[in-house]
Amino acid sequence: MIAELICVGTELLMGQVTNTNAQFLSEALAPSGIDLYHEIVVGDNAARLKEAVQTALSRADILILSGGLGPTDDDLTKETVSEALGLTLEFYPEEWKRIEEYFARTGRTPASNNRKQAMFPRPCIILPNPNGTAPGCILEQNGKAAILLPGPPRELRPMFTDYAMPYLLKRSGHKLYSRELRIFGIGESDVTDRLADLIRSQTNPTIAPYAKTGEVTLRITARCQSEAEGEALVCPMIDTIRTRLGNAVYSDRGEPLPLVCHNALIARKETLAVAESCTGGLLTSAFVDLPGSSAYLIEGAVTYANEAKMRRLGVSKATLDTFGAVSAECAREMAEGLRARANTTYALATTGIAGPDGGTPEKPVGTVYVALAKEGETIVKRLQLFGNRERIRTVTVLQILDIFRQNLFTY
Ligand code: ATP
Ligand code: MG
Repeated sequence: MIAELICVGTELLMGQVTNTNAQFLSEALAPSGIDLYHEIVVGDNAARLKEAVQTALSRADILILSGGLGPTDDDLTKETVSEALGLTLEFYPEEWKRIEEYFARTGRTPASNNRKQAMFPRPCIILPNPNGTAPGCILEQNGKAAILLPGPPRELRPMFTDYAMPYLLKRSGHKLYSRELRIFGIGESDVTDRLADLIRSQTNPTIAPYAKTGEVTLRITARCQSEAEGEALVCPMIDTIRTRLGNAVYSDRGEPLPLVCHNALIARKETLAVAESCTGGLLTSAFVDLPGSSAYLIEGAVTYANEAKMRRLGVSKATLDTFGAVSAECAREMAEGLRARANTTYALATTGIAGPDGGTPEKPVGTVYVALAKEGETIVKRLQLFGNRERIRTVTVLQILDIFRQNLFTY
């Protein structure tokens, strides 16, 4: 099955909008077994759009169009594609009602030009749009199909994933099976370097890397006839990637770091307390966000001032005077002090300089100490992070969670 992508919008041709829909759609199609041979960008011009549609119909089975489903005069995708397919538009009262309801929910009333958003050929498959007014649709004619999607990415993406992709997979007779590998401690370019040959030669399964703050994710997707076949295709690839990346892979089911720690603590019936300075509750909150954390989380102490570190955690005045609050010694005493007081299996502690002020040549902004206290041992690590205050605090949480999970389990 051959697909062709047509992105409609003069703003794309002018360079005012980056064509992220094309990237999203081509990446989403890659594992589906549907071949994408051409991607076209065309302006909001009926004659040129019609020409693009006719060309695409001459060489593809499925046309996927993005943009131009809005209410204004320059939104002409549906009208033009219908004309090229020889279909006439009719008013769908039930779709109009839905559009009125959407407006009512957002406290507005539709304008008369919104009526054209309730016009479709009959028959056609209408694709709901919970994130906007313009429904999408699938037009079928002479064994070919045109899938019309709205331009705004936040409307297009869920519509494609939830409605268009299942339609395409049904038509092609394929199923998709995918797993998400989560990786911490290796940057995206390093990950893609180490997997370069696998990524280059990928066919089935495909490997798609994504970078998030401080983390990398790989989505491994197989085209298959059944879940069992999908698993049989994906698992050897996961094993190969694990061999190359080692313990940096912390989940092969898309679970984030707090969740893998959470699950391990519950499975091991152990308990946790958290002492935070520079993260100010973020670390505790990462656990509290997860339902069921009461099974292991005993307390979180935000001890920002030296006085609080002494009074609530038992950090010694001598340590603070000699090494300062941002020091390995202080982090250790915070973790050990809270662990003793809370009587938990583990205690975690953070103390650091999140900036923008407070740095010194020996301890620049981004200097953070984290500690994990457990029976018989306390692990302390100095981190040198970069970025703004928010990033430093977020990455501190990820770093200590990574140390923690390496102590809780290894794959
Ligand atoms: P609307 O109802 O918002 O008018 P529409 O379906 O008519 O939606 P367009 O008018 O073509 O879509 O585009 C609306 C906005 O969506 C654009 O201004 C742009 O910000 C975004 N957009 C459109 N096409 C793309 C694309 N290919 N990639 C990324 N963003 C896009
Ligand atoms: Mg528009």
